[in-house]
Amino acid sequence: MKVGVLGARGRVGSEVCRAVERAADLKLVAAIGSADPLDSLALADVVVDFTRPDVVMDNLRWCIGRGLHCVVGTTGFDRARLDSLRDALAEAPDVGVVVAPNFSVGAVLMMRFAAVASPFYESVEIVEMHHPDKADAPSGTSRRTAEMVAAARREAGLDAVPDATSTGLDGARGADVDGIHVHSLRARGLVAHQEVLLGGPGETLTIRHDSMDRASFVPGVLVAVHAVRDRPGLTVGLEHLLDLD
Ligand code: NAP
Repeated sequence: MKVGVLGARGRVGSEVCRAVERAADLKLVAAIGSADPLDSLALADVVVDFTRPDVVMDNLRWCIGRGLHCVVGTTGFDRARLDSLRDALAEAPDVGVVVAPNFSVGAVLMMRFAAVASPFYESVEIVEMHHPDKADAPSGTSRRTAEMVAAARREAGLDAVPDATSTGLDGARGADVDGIHVHSLRARGLVAHQEVLLGGPGETLTIRHDSMDRASFVPGVLVAVHAVRDRPGLTVGLEHLLDLD
């Protein structure tokens, strides 16, 4: 399969290029940076995009218009952007696009395990820990985890998480995401880490994921590269490609 990479000299894109070059069944046919023309991408079967939120939509429209399947790690996909992608794909019904906010298999499993465990515990809080250069807090992954945990609790008919705090400093209890408290730590030396702490009478369960290197995104990207041609339309989230059920 022929693969093109947009953002090929970036932190994640360069890892993806190396992995494609190493894979026996993949061939890197285009490695594109911001100054390069897109033309050579037309040789590819699948295009991987790890660029920037402000350029990714133009890239995707270009690719979809040429019938190229896409695997997208670039962040910033809100509902409006996803709708706009669906509209573009409606004009190209054979084309598949996979957008995943987190391509780490471990992070996807951590979210799933947290959702599975949450109906069995009265309490749950999330602590996400990242390097201090990260702009957004809480992280997208912790927000998504909180939403999944909250949905699983609602479905199981659980009450709100108990919390008797009546006085305190602003921020001491973290951010409230869908009724779940999320705490954001920032420290030099950290990369991307998250704990989901569940508590019931006499016990706690901690589910933790640590990402130490951007290489952690590569196996998930390769899963999507191999799957996307058989999934016309839009797929959002790596979990749909991992056969978790
Ligand atoms: P990065 O190191 O800044 O790399 C971005 C690259 O995109 C740069 O090399 C840049 O090239 C290139 N670029 C910018 N505009 C372009 C264009 N129009 N066409 C082609 N290439 C272009 O960033 P990163 O850490 O690799 O992250 C990239 C994106 O992936 C971010 O949105 C990040 O949040 C996201 N991300 C997602 C996941 C996930 O699992 N989904 C994981 C990590 C990161 P120049 O240097 O030439 O400008």
